[in-house]
Amino acid sequence: MDLSEIGEFGLINRIRKWTSTSDPALLKGIGDDVAVVETGAKVWLMTTDLLIEDVHFKRTWIDPYHLGRKSLYVNLSDIAAMGGIPKYFLISLGVPENLPLSFLSSFYRGLKDGAKRFGADLIGGDTSVSEKIIINICLLGEGKRGNILFRSGARVGDDLFVSGTLGDAALGLKILQENRSRAKPIGLTRKHLTPSPRLRLGQSLAKNHWATAMIDLSDGLLIDTNHLLEESRVGARIWEDRIPLSRLYRKWISSFSKSPYEFALSGGEDYELLFAAPPEMRGRISRLAVSLKIPITQIGRTVRKREGLRLIKADGKEYSPSRLGFEHFKRR
Ligand code: ADP
Ligand code: MG
Repeated sequence: MDLSEIGEFGLINRIRKWTSTSDPALLKGIGDDVAVVETGAKVWLMTTDLLIEDVHFKRTWIDPYHLGRKSLYVNLSDIAAMGGIPKYFLISLGVPENLPLSFLSSFYRGLKDGAKRFGADLIGGDTSVSEKIIINICLLGEGKRGNILFRSGARVGDDLFVSGTLGDAALGLKILQENRSRAKPIGLTRKHLTPSPRLRLGQSLAKNHWATAMIDLSDGLLIDTNHLLEESRVGARIWEDRIPLSRLYRKWISSFSKSPYEFALSGGEDYELLFAAPPEMRGRISRLAVSLKIPITQIGRTVRKREGLRLIKADGKEYSPSRLGFEHFKRR
């Protein structure tokens, strides 16, 4: 058997079985957005992400400043998904020997600006020569033990909400890749270059105990919803026409796809939050959206596990998605 048969998530499930540990301080190992380790009344949150040139980015699509900022932001988003506070990070770099120093000085300028904005401190890393650029950040955050939101807490009958609008980053990337339009829709390309981690939203939901489960949308709505459903052992119904789409997305989608929801359902890198909450929290959640000035939309509801994940079209017809989204190794 090779990796193309089981895909990235099949591999992670196997790694989880090969490496299970019973340390009582470990509240969460593999299987959530971060690992959670208890230290007294506080918990440490640990997450790491890998960005590889020509797999995750191309130098022609993203400049070094934005690449530096985004490398940190994708990790901040995982801390946001737990309702945590970012603290310290380490960065390891593989870089080609002919890389101009100015590339790295811009990269670190972006990294530093992002770190300052969200209160994280760079405390170390490692450096090596490599044919392609490889970026790995390991970020540490903290939280209070009772105030952390896992992927696993959703209950049958919860509402499912998402922040922001979906599909913009994937459509923005497509436009950068094709480079066909001179008048690029900046709102879309910016969402790809600088996804904003929803830290304040995540922290408010976790601290107030208004949500039951949360995940950030890095791989796409369907694939990440499915992770939350699997960890919570529930199913869900999602109403397609409630999925929040931006004005620019609506304007540009028809140039790239016949299906108006394709990028919103399966496109990655929006770094918005998806969360489950009991129906009695609706009022509080809509007031939170107003006070944080972040759109929050109810897109579905959780159901019993055996009903699986199903989408409902505007005409009321239901279907099970045949493909959830992008997964490393998996054959298309
Ligand atoms: P995210 O999209 O939130 O970054 P991933 O899908 O990358 O999460 O990872 C899911 C879970 O699997 C996390 O708990 C992560 O720490 C773990 N994980 C991913 N790759 C590996 C690996 N190679 N070895 C051990 N754990 C891994
Ligand atoms: Mg995540």
